[in-house]
Amino acid sequence: MGETADTLAARWAAVRQRVDAACRAAGRDPAEVTVLPVSKTFGVEAVREAVALGLTRFGENKVQELRDKSAALAELPLDWVLIGHLQTNKAKDAARLASEVQSLDRLELAEALHRRLGAEGRAIDVLVQVKTSPEESKHGLPPDELPAFLDRLGGYPTLRVRGLMTLAVQSEDDAAVRACFRRLRELRDAATARGHQLPRLSMGMSGDFPQAIAEGATEVRIGTAIFGRRPVPAK
Ligand SMILES: *Cc1c(COP(=O)(O)O)cnc(C)c1O
Repeated sequence: MGETADTLAARWAAVRQRVDAACRAAGRDPAEVTVLPVSKTFGVEAVREAVALGLTRFGENKVQELRDKSAALAELPLDWVLIGHLQTNKAKDAARLASEVQSLDRLELAEALHRRLGAEGRAIDVLVQVKTSPEESKHGLPPDELPAFLDRLGGYPTLRVRGLMTLAVQSEDDAAVRACFRRLRELRDAATARGHQLPRLSMGMSGDFPQAIAEGATEVRIGTAIFGRRPVPAK
Protein backbone atom coordinates (compact mmCIF):
# COMPACT_ATOMS: atom_id res chain seq x y z
CA MET A 1 0.00 0.00 0.00
CA GLY A 2 2.70 2.45 1.07
CA GLU A 3 4.26 2.04 -2.35
CA THR A 4 1.50 3.95 -4.08
CA ALA A 5 2.56 7.58 -4.42
CA ASP A 6 -0.17 9.94 -3.31
CA THR A 7 0.18 12.30 -6.24
CA LEU A 8 -2.33 13.96 -8.47
CA ALA A 9 -1.17 11.76 -11.34
CA ALA A 10 -1.72 8.58 -9.29
CA ARG A 11 -5.13 9.71 -8.05
CA TRP A 12 -6.23 10.69 -11.55
CA ALA A 13 -5.16 7.33 -12.97
CA ALA A 14 -6.93 5.52 -10.13
CA VAL A 15 -10.15 7.46 -10.69
CA ARG A 16 -10.15 6.72 -14.40
CA GLN A 17 -9.55 3.03 -13.65
CA ARG A 18 -12.43 2.97 -11.16
CA VAL A 19 -14.71 4.70 -13.66
CA ASP A 20 -13.76 2.16 -16.32
CA ALA A 21 -14.38 -0.70 -13.88
CA ALA A 22 -17.79 0.72 -12.95
CA CYS A 23 -18.65 0.91 -16.65
CA ARG A 24 -17.67 -2.70 -17.24
CA ALA A 25 -19.62 -3.83 -14.16
CA ALA A 26 -22.67 -2.07 -15.61
CA GLY A 27 -22.13 -3.57 -19.06
CA ARG A 28 -21.26 -0.16 -20.49
CA ASP A 29 -18.47 1.05 -22.74
CA PRO A 30 -16.00 3.19 -20.70
CA ALA A 31 -15.77 5.54 -23.68
CA GLU A 32 -19.36 6.62 -22.88
CA VAL A 33 -18.42 8.18 -19.54
CA THR A 34 -16.45 11.40 -19.17
CA VAL A 35 -14.80 12.56 -15.95
CA LEU A 36 -15.17 16.26 -15.12
CA PRO A 37 -12.40 17.16 -12.66
CA VAL A 38 -13.83 19.53 -10.03
CA SER A 39 -11.15 22.00 -8.98
CA LYS A 40 -13.25 24.11 -6.60
CA THR A 41 -11.33 25.18 -3.47
CA PHE A 42 -8.06 23.91 -4.95
CA GLY A 43 -5.51 26.49 -6.03
CA VAL A 44 -4.17 27.48 -9.36
CA GLU A 45 -1.11 25.27 -8.84
CA ALA A 46 -3.29 22.18 -8.52
CA VAL A 47 -5.01 23.09 -11.78
CA ARG A 48 -1.65 23.60 -13.49
CA GLU A 49 -0.58 20.17 -12.30
CA ALA A 50 -3.78 18.68 -13.74
CA VAL A 51 -3.23 20.49 -17.02
CA ALA A 52 0.21 18.89 -17.20
CA LEU A 53 -1.60 15.52 -17.09
CA GLY A 54 -3.60 16.55 -20.13
CA LEU A 55 -6.78 17.77 -18.42
CA THR A 56 -8.33 20.89 -19.92
CA ARG A 57 -11.86 21.06 -18.55
CA PHE A 58 -12.58 21.92 -14.93
CA GLY A 59 -15.69 22.23 -12.79
CA GLU A 60 -16.12 25.15 -10.41
CA ASN A 61 -19.09 25.94 -8.20
CA LYS A 62 -18.59 29.67 -7.66
CA VAL A 63 -18.37 32.39 -10.28
CA GLN A 64 -15.92 34.43 -8.23
CA GLU A 65 -13.49 31.53 -7.94
CA LEU A 66 -13.92 30.66 -11.61
CA ARG A 67 -13.14 34.27 -12.47
CA ASP A 68 -9.98 34.34 -10.36
CA LYS A 69 -8.66 31.03 -11.69
CA SER A 70 -9.47 31.69 -15.32
CA ALA A 71 -7.69 35.05 -15.03
CA ALA A 72 -4.63 33.46 -13.39
CA LEU A 73 -4.53 30.74 -16.07
CA ALA A 74 -5.59 32.88 -19.01
CA GLU A 75 -2.65 31.71 -21.12
CA LEU A 76 -4.00 28.15 -21.11
CA PRO A 77 -6.84 26.98 -23.38
CA LEU A 78 -9.13 25.70 -20.60
CA ASP A 79 -12.86 25.10 -20.46
CA TRP A 80 -14.54 26.16 -17.22
CA VAL A 81 -17.77 24.44 -16.29
CA LEU A 82 -20.09 25.95 -13.70
CA ILE A 83 -21.63 23.25 -11.54
CA GLY A 84 -22.81 25.28 -8.53
CA HIS A 85 -25.83 27.41 -7.78
CA LEU A 86 -25.64 30.50 -9.96
CA GLN A 87 -27.14 33.76 -8.77
CA THR A 88 -28.84 35.76 -11.50
CA ASN A 89 -26.66 38.78 -10.79
CA LYS A 90 -23.57 36.68 -11.62
CA ALA A 91 -24.88 35.76 -15.07
CA LYS A 92 -22.67 38.34 -16.75
CA ASP A 93 -19.40 36.79 -15.59
CA ALA A 94 -20.75 33.31 -16.22
CA ALA A 95 -21.68 34.25 -19.78
CA ARG A 96 -18.23 35.70 -20.33
CA LEU A 97 -16.10 32.96 -18.76
CA ALA A 98 -17.90 29.63 -18.60
CA SER A 99 -17.86 27.26 -21.53
CA GLU A 100 -20.78 25.44 -20.00
CA VAL A 101 -23.31 25.77 -17.17
CA GLN A 102 -24.63 22.57 -15.56
CA SER A 103 -26.70 24.31 -12.87
CA LEU A 104 -29.45 25.88 -14.94
CA ASP A 105 -32.49 25.55 -12.70
CA ARG A 106 -34.87 28.45 -13.35
CA LEU A 107 -36.23 30.62 -16.14
CA GLU A 108 -35.01 33.85 -14.60
CA LEU A 109 -31.45 32.52 -14.89
CA ALA A 110 -32.00 31.28 -18.46
CA GLU A 111 -33.26 34.73 -19.39
CA ALA A 112 -30.28 36.50 -17.77
CA LEU A 113 -27.72 34.15 -19.31
CA HIS A 114 -29.32 34.42 -22.73
CA ARG A 115 -29.25 38.22 -22.60
CA ARG A 116 -25.59 38.30 -21.52
CA LEU A 117 -24.54 35.62 -24.01
CA GLY A 118 -26.24 37.56 -26.77
CA ALA A 119 -24.19 40.61 -25.80
CA GLU A 120 -21.02 38.49 -25.86
CA GLY A 121 -21.99 36.91 -29.17
CA ARG A 122 -21.59 33.44 -27.66
CA ALA A 123 -23.64 30.31 -27.18
CA ILE A 124 -22.85 27.71 -24.52
CA ASP A 125 -23.87 24.19 -23.61
CA VAL A 126 -26.18 23.91 -20.62
CA LEU A 127 -27.52 21.10 -18.50
CA VAL A 128 -30.71 21.49 -16.49
CA GLN A 129 -30.12 20.76 -12.83
CA VAL A 130 -32.99 18.74 -11.40
CA LYS A 131 -33.65 18.23 -7.71
CA THR A 132 -33.95 14.48 -7.25
CA SER A 133 -33.17 14.50 -3.52
CA PRO A 134 -35.49 15.60 -0.72
CA GLU A 135 -32.72 17.54 1.06
CA GLU A 136 -33.56 21.22 1.49
CA SER A 137 -29.96 22.21 0.85
CA LYS A 138 -29.99 20.89 -2.70
CA HIS A 139 -30.78 23.21 -5.57
CA GLY A 140 -32.46 22.23 -8.78
CA LEU A 141 -35.68 22.34 -10.70
CA PRO A 142 -38.56 20.32 -9.21
CA PRO A 143 -38.95 17.26 -11.46
CA ASP A 144 -42.59 17.96 -12.29
CA GLU A 145 -41.60 21.33 -13.75
CA LEU A 146 -39.07 19.84 -16.18
CA PRO A 147 -41.32 19.33 -19.24
CA ALA A 148 -42.57 22.94 -19.29
CA PHE A 149 -39.09 24.25 -18.50
CA LEU A 150 -37.52 22.38 -21.42
CA ASP A 151 -40.18 23.71 -23.75
CA ARG A 152 -39.48 27.27 -22.63
CA LEU A 153 -35.72 26.89 -23.10
CA GLY A 154 -36.35 26.58 -26.82
CA GLY A 155 -36.82 30.35 -26.71
CA TYR A 156 -33.18 30.96 -25.70
CA PRO A 157 -31.03 29.87 -28.64
CA THR A 158 -27.75 30.88 -26.96
CA LEU A 159 -28.38 28.05 -24.49
CA ARG A 160 -27.70 24.71 -26.15
CA VAL A 161 -29.53 22.29 -23.90
CA ARG A 162 -27.58 19.02 -23.85
CA GLY A 163 -28.92 17.10 -20.89
CA LEU A 164 -29.62 16.96 -17.18
CA MET A 165 -27.58 17.19 -13.99
CA THR A 166 -28.31 16.18 -10.43
CA LEU A 167 -26.83 15.62 -6.97
CA ALA A 168 -28.01 12.51 -5.18
CA VAL A 169 -29.13 12.47 -1.57
CA GLN A 170 -26.19 12.21 0.83
CA SER A 171 -26.87 8.86 2.43
CA GLU A 172 -25.35 5.56 3.44
CA ASP A 173 -28.40 3.94 1.89
CA ASP A 174 -27.23 2.76 -1.49
CA ALA A 175 -30.78 2.25 -2.75
CA ALA A 176 -31.74 5.84 -1.88
CA VAL A 177 -28.71 7.20 -3.72
CA ARG A 178 -29.37 5.08 -6.77
CA ALA A 179 -33.03 6.10 -6.79
CA CYS A 180 -31.95 9.74 -7.33
CA PHE A 181 -29.81 8.81 -10.30
CA ARG A 182 -32.47 6.52 -11.73
CA ARG A 183 -34.99 9.33 -11.40
CA LEU A 184 -32.82 11.61 -13.52
CA ARG A 185 -32.46 8.99 -16.22
CA GLU A 186 -36.20 8.37 -16.27
CA LEU A 187 -36.89 12.10 -16.51
CA ARG A 188 -34.48 12.27 -19.42
CA ASP A 189 -36.11 9.29 -21.13
CA ALA A 190 -39.56 10.87 -20.74
CA ALA A 191 -38.30 14.18 -22.18
CA THR A 192 -36.67 12.31 -25.07
CA ALA A 193 -39.99 10.66 -25.82
CA ARG A 194 -41.47 14.17 -26.02
CA GLY A 195 -38.93 15.13 -28.67
CA HIS A 196 -36.11 16.72 -26.65
CA GLN A 197 -32.52 15.71 -27.33
CA LEU A 198 -30.77 15.24 -24.00
CA PRO A 199 -27.86 12.85 -24.51
CA ARG A 200 -25.93 13.91 -21.39
CA LEU A 201 -26.54 12.91 -17.79
CA SER A 202 -24.12 14.56 -15.34
CA MET A 203 -24.42 12.67 -12.09
CA GLY A 204 -22.10 11.10 -9.53
CA MET A 205 -19.26 12.54 -7.43
CA SER A 206 -16.26 11.04 -5.59
CA GLY A 207 -18.47 9.19 -3.12
CA ASP A 208 -21.19 7.85 -5.38
CA PHE A 209 -20.02 7.69 -9.00
CA PRO A 210 -20.24 3.89 -9.39
CA GLN A 211 -23.96 4.03 -8.61
CA ALA A 212 -24.41 6.91 -11.05
CA ILE A 213 -22.63 4.99 -13.79
CA ALA A 214 -24.81 1.97 -13.12
CA GLU A 215 -27.84 4.23 -13.66
CA GLY A 216 -26.60 5.75 -16.91
CA ALA A 217 -24.34 8.72 -16.11
CA THR A 218 -22.45 10.01 -19.13
CA GLU A 219 -20.37 12.33 -16.98
CA VAL A 220 -19.18 12.12 -13.38
CA ARG A 221 -17.97 15.21 -11.49
CA ILE A 222 -14.98 14.28 -9.38
CA GLY A 223 -13.22 16.60 -6.94
CA THR A 224 -11.58 15.10 -3.87
CA ALA A 225 -10.80 11.70 -5.40
CA ILE A 226 -8.60 13.53 -7.93
CA PHE A 227 -7.30 16.57 -6.09
CA GLY A 228 -7.15 15.15 -2.57
CA ARG A 229 -8.69 16.51 0.61
CA ARG A 230 -10.09 20.03 0.30
CA PRO A 231 -7.84 22.71 1.78
CA VAL A 232 -10.94 24.54 3.01
CA PRO A 233 -14.41 23.08 3.36
CA ALA A 234 -16.56 23.72 0.29
CA LYS A 235 -19.92 25.36 0.88
C1 LIG B 1 -17.95 19.68 -5.21
C2 LIG B 1 -18.88 19.14 -6.21
C3 LIG B 1 -18.61 17.92 -6.84
C4 LIG B 1 -17.39 17.05 -6.54
O1 LIG B 1 -17.47 16.59 -5.25
P1 LIG B 1 -16.38 15.51 -4.68
O2 LIG B 1 -17.11 14.84 -3.60
O3 LIG B 1 -15.24 16.32 -4.22
O4 LIG B 1 -16.04 14.64 -5.80
C5 LIG B 1 -19.51 17.49 -7.81
N1 LIG B 1 -20.61 18.20 -8.12
C6 LIG B 1 -20.90 19.38 -7.54
C7 LIG B 1 -22.12 20.10 -7.93
C8 LIG B 1 -20.05 19.88 -6.55
O5 LIG B 1 -20.34 21.06 -5.98
